[in-house]
Amino acid sequence: MSEPKQTNDQDVRKKWITKMIKSAKNQYKLCPYFDKKTVQCFLMLTMKNKHAKCDRDGRFDNCPLFLEYLDQVYENISKNKKTLPNNFQDILTSYLP
Ligand code: SF4
Repeated sequence: MSEPKQTNDQDVRKKWITKMIKSAKNQYKLCPYFDKKTVQCFLMLTMKNKHAKCDRDGRFDNCPLFLEYLDQVYENISKNKKTLPNNFQDILTSYLP
């Protein structure tokens, strides 16, 4: 018997998120949502409506908020049956946090 569809979706989601992180790391040394001057996190502001400093010095590869954001983007794209972007730059230009 085959696995439930949800497992497959979880696999695709995980793979895609990993791919986006890799792509982001190729393009950015520090988190694109990190304000170096103020040390504030832009995602915290847009997603949680909170002013908060980044406590990770802009290192985003294992940042829970960054992962949550990518997860939301995935959710949004799959809900609307759109094509998943192949690189992080497409997310930056098409999906505002
Ligand atoms: S908390 Fe995470 S998402 Fe926010 S600026 Fe820092 S690394 Fe980026």
